[in-house]
Formats: sequence, C-alpha cells, structure tokens
Amino acid sequence: MPTSMIARGSTVQTPQNTPSGSYPGEHRCRNCGAFVTRDFVRVFGTNDDKVFGCFECMHATDVKRGGALHPK
Ligand SMILES: [Zn+2]
Repeated sequence: MPTSMIARGSTVQTPQNTPSGSYPGEHRCRNCGAFVTRDFVRVFGTNDDKVFGCFECMHATDVKRGGALHPK
C-alpha cells in the first residue's frame, strides 16, 4: 500500500523546533537537511538510516548510483 506517496507535505516549511537527531519516522538529508521519506532512506541510504544526498541537493542520477551513501 503506497502510503509513502502521500505528502506529509504542507508542514515541511515549519520552523525547526524539533530536537535534532532521533525523531521516529522522520529522516533528513545529512547534506542539505531536506526531509526525505523513510523509503528513500531505505532504498538510497546507509544501513543505519542516513542519507548524504537527496533529490533536493543531488542529481537523481547520482542518488540512484549510490551518491547518497557517502558524504561528499
Ligand atoms: Zn539533500
């Protein structure tokens, strides 16, 4: 069931009032800080749920080639 396709969306622009780090179900690009989905992290990220690039800051081709697995 593709629930991940539902944009959590309109609240993305809210001020950063969440504690950095562990927020269940929330993942951010380590490079630019953009919100990324859990599925994105699972597919393109590291085994410990980090991504160092996303479609906001990295070309999609590079992400798909594993560019998000390592810091630049
Ligand atoms: Zn990014």
